[in-house]
Amino acid sequence: MSNPLVARRLAIVPTTNCSLNCKLCCDFLNGPVKRRDIPFEQVCRDIDACFDLIDHVEWLQFVGGEVFIYRDFPKLLDYVQKYRDRFDRIIIESNGTVFPNEEGQRAILSYGKDISLFISDYGKLSRARDQFIAFFEEHQVDHRLKKYYGDDQYFDGWIDNNNPHDLKEPGDVLEVNSRNCVQNRCKNMHCFDGKLYRCSNSCFMQEMGLFPPKPGDFVYLHDDSVSREEKREIIEQFYEYARQSCRYCKFKYIGILPRHPAAEQL
Ligand code: SF4
Ligand code: SF4
Repeated sequence: MSNPLVARRLAIVPTTNCSLNCKLCCDFLNGPVKRRDIPFEQVCRDIDACFDLIDHVEWLQFVGGEVFIYRDFPKLLDYVQKYRDRFDRIIIESNGTVFPNEEGQRAILSYGKDISLFISDYGKLSRARDQFIAFFEEHQVDHRLKKYYGDDQYFDGWIDNNNPHDLKEPGDVLEVNSRNCVQNRCKNMHCFDGKLYRCSNSCFMQEMGLFPPKPGDFVYLHDDSVSREEKREIIEQFYEYARQSCRYCKFKYIGILPRHPAAEQL
């Protein structure tokens, strides 16, 4: 019998639609990546496929785009209740622009102390921020506000990972830099549109068509010609060597790259 496969982070992306239009969008939603909803039934199939391959998930995350403009988001939160004993916490990431409707609030509260909301606070742009805070305080919901306006921005602001191009790092340098990348260390898998990737940049650089798909870079969740064991082997290797995306991605230099004000709008 094989060893249990545990995911530290598994981010489900039900939509790349967003209520903002950030110049330095880290998901390349400022043009190169198409904005679209993945139909509810398809997201559920992807989630089922992930839980068929992965034995346990520490943080099951929902990220966008902006998840609170995805119409079926409350239904998705309800749907993953079926895996309640297979993950430790639910994490929702939001830009604080749209407050969930009653269904969404109920679905959030159904997780009690096992849910956290991470709100990127973009000042005036995050128009629902105060509603979120009142809701968190009233219902004692665990949350984190990341301040991304004015001085002292979280992480000192954003980096510019736009216009990715081949950085031409020699192979061994690429391997070391990719291995030390924050995204590699936090093991933040991303599931989008039937595929499972090792990180958000791997996902969205593939999505923008920067390079042809390469076997082993990600898992086609519904490809029956690849066995469950083979898919699990690919996932186990996710963080062992650089992927094509790492060649093009400046994120691995986040510690030394210049910072820019967050969420400047186009
Ligand atoms: S809030 Fe801005 S950075 Fe975040 S997904 Fe939307 S457009 Fe991209
Ligand atoms: S370098 Fe980029 S693509 Fe590679 S692990 Fe880091 S964030 Fe992901």
